[in-house]
Amino acid sequence: MDTLIGSYADSDTPPPTQFKRLAILGLGLLGGSFALAAKHAGLAQEVVGYSKSPSTLKAAKAAGIIDHGADSALHAATGADLILLAVPVSAIGPLLKQIRLGVAQYALVMDVGSTKSDVATAAQEALGDKSRQFVPCHPIAGSENSGLQYARSALFDGRRVVITPMVENPDRFVEVATQIWEAVGGVVSVMSPQDHDAAFAAVSHLPHLLAFAYVYAIARQSKGGSYLQLAGPGFRDFTRIAASDPTMWRDIFQTNGTEVLEQLQLFKQAIAGFEAQMRQGNWSVLESLIRQASQSRKDWASPSPADDIV
Ligand code: NAP
Repeated sequence: MDTLIGSYADSDTPPPTQFKRLAILGLGLLGGSFALAAKHAGLAQEVVGYSKSPSTLKAAKAAGIIDHGADSALHAATGADLILLAVPVSAIGPLLKQIRLGVAQYALVMDVGSTKSDVATAAQEALGDKSRQFVPCHPIAGSENSGLQYARSALFDGRRVVITPMVENPDRFVEVATQIWEAVGGVVSVMSPQDHDAAFAAVSHLPHLLAFAYVYAIARQSKGGSYLQLAGPGFRDFTRIAASDPTMWRDIFQTNGTEVLEQLQLFKQAIAGFEAQMRQGNWSVLESLIRQASQSRKDWASPSPADDIV
């Protein structure tokens, strides 16, 4: 870590990447995992946490995931040189407003939210001139299981982390954010918030919407329960993500609605095409469509193991 260490000396000097105090706001799957990974990597001398429910804070402290619990987000952030927000995307703006006064001039602030344009806008509104210190991030790591109990230090190992810098971010802050994610095992890609949201609408948000709607459609049929008893690996693979957290996904559809609806239109065109071939009995055309999809799926080299979602 020595080569990563910078200086605290003045306000324009970006933070070091071995930090004195890491503050994690939101101690669920992502926040808890980052705390564990940061400890494992020796990234911070102390880890202070804050979470909405006192029971979560207590559990994080008892499990040694954090060193200290704070009674407010502001108290956790005050004096920290690295602040990570790991809360639902709709909570990021309000939380940044709460901590604004406590964000030191040398602190680096990051999030892990699944959508980025809205988060960047919320940060600009909430932090004002301190938004230069906020570097939006999205680790492509997680699972359909939310909550601190699923946190693990290896969550980010080998996983892509997308950083979507804002124009006001000094390059050095983006470099330090990159080093931090690499230190916890991530592989960093940099793109604009808009490109991020368009891409993840296609490869993450739409598939979740489809999985939720599909399971909803099956479950509400009169014989749906008995059909589900017969379901096998195909159903399991296609629907695993339908067990994801409802609040988190409502937030994502809300904050990236335009891009998701655009992808939904493209999907509806495709499914209408498949349906038309079936209705018209054009089985060879249908087979050709399936063949193209099958080949695309075979050509796709998964960047990470199958237990990843977002
Ligand atoms: P999670 O396990 O449900 O954790 C979220 C935590 O945030 C909960 O522990 C909750 O606290 C806390 N929280 C909620 N509102 C808060 C507030 N206003 N102030 C302080 N704490 C608050 O969710 P997660 O899966 O870690 O997701 C966190 C973020 O990561 C989301 O923005 C999500 O989009 C993003 N993300 C998730 C995944 C994934 O696969 N799950 C992957 C990549 C990115 P209490 O427990 O104290 O009530």
